[in-house]
Amino acid sequence: MEFKFLMPTEIHFGEDVVLKNKEVFRAMGNKALIVTGRSSSKRNGSYDDVKKALSQTGVEYVLFDEVEENPSLETIEKGREIGKRNNVEFVIGIGGGSPMDAAKAIALFIKNPDISKENIFTAGKLESIPVVAVPTTSGTGSEVTQHSIVTTHKDKTKKNLGQRIFPKVAFIDWKYTIDLPYDITVNTAIDAFTHLAEGYLNTNSTYMSDIYAEKGFELFKYCFEKLISKDLDQDFRKKVMMASVLGGIQIAQTGTSLPHGMGYPLTYFKGLPHGPATGVLTIEYLITFKDQTKIKRMLNILGLSHLGELEAIFSRLIDIKIDITPEEINEYANSIYGNKKKLRNHPEEVSLEDIVRIYSKSLLTD
Ligand code: NAP
Ligand code: ZN
Repeated sequence: MEFKFLMPTEIHFGEDVVLKNKEVFRAMGNKALIVTGRSSSKRNGSYDDVKKALSQTGVEYVLFDEVEENPSLETIEKGREIGKRNNVEFVIGIGGGSPMDAAKAIALFIKNPDISKENIFTAGKLESIPVVAVPTTSGTGSEVTQHSIVTTHKDKTKKNLGQRIFPKVAFIDWKYTIDLPYDITVNTAIDAFTHLAEGYLNTNSTYMSDIYAEKGFELFKYCFEKLISKDLDQDFRKKVMMASVLGGIQIAQTGTSLPHGMGYPLTYFKGLPHGPATGVLTIEYLITFKDQTKIKRMLNILGLSHLGELEAIFSRLIDIKIDITPEEINEYANSIYGNKKKLRNHPEEVSLEDIVRIYSKSLLTD
């Protein structure tokens, strides 16, 4: 048995962790750039807690609250300008995966003034200024991963920046998710589940990373029931947040797999949110495996006896209809098939026909 396991992020999980550990901000520097989405963090208490923690510890800050869903490189450059102009020493990302990923990318762009949207994907390994992450959705796990996923309009898709930007500290407080609407709760939970599944069924999975997946499936046995019955109480919020963190720690080791890569064009061209864009492909992806051993183990932990039961759960939770043609599917499939990095994470041989089949069976109505 041989493996590497890296989780450099200091994790604070629980109620009021931002204020209870406010001195952590002081240790990061004198001035912060707060990166958020347009409005939700101002309503769910996360921005107020961070502001209070900063003012109580004498840390100055500037706010950049223009991060859109699936943040573009243009937004990253804009955030960098504000950060540079104000001489910030660290970045605090508050929100769902979009602001957290943007915060990581901005922190890297601030540290490297010569980097721009034109050359980031061909740059070598780069450092960033420190990042603190405060998630307000239970889905991406971005607060504990090195990944930053951005929209690149030049390439007409979403891409991983390909850098290692682990937040120094993650403050994870489920109370910020209490009022998360049902649809965003489902979409982001599906994302967390797909991380657990794609990391578990991954070429890079190890004994250690599997521990996180299997604990995550245990939590999802409960979370799927609560999602279906729309019973989103505090116990559910805590557990789905934990599952999301476990998924993040796991994909920090393994990366994601086919459905994530295949879902990006569905977000870019068809406007599907990230969770359902990936989740809509999950069942057909699972069917593709010739060796079903680990899938059976996953189903067993989920308390399900066969894939059809998971399919029934997914069809209750994901209800999307998109207009897509076989020509578009061929185009997306060819582009994924050309991305050998994504294919490498799938532990079995995969053909172009397999990818076309996953898309077609998942998305075409007849
Ligand atoms: P998101 O795009 O960050 O946010 C979706 C929506 O939810 C926004 O309208 C946001 O509003 C709202 N929202 C966030 N928190 C809320 C709360 N507590 N209450 C009410 N509304 C809230 O969604 P996400 O699914 O968390 O993130 C998706 C992004 O993460 C994608 O770009 C995906 O590729 C990326 N991702 C990254 C990783 C990684 O490892 N780095 C992994 C998976 C996915 P505001 O805009 O007003 O804040
Ligand atoms: Zn994801």
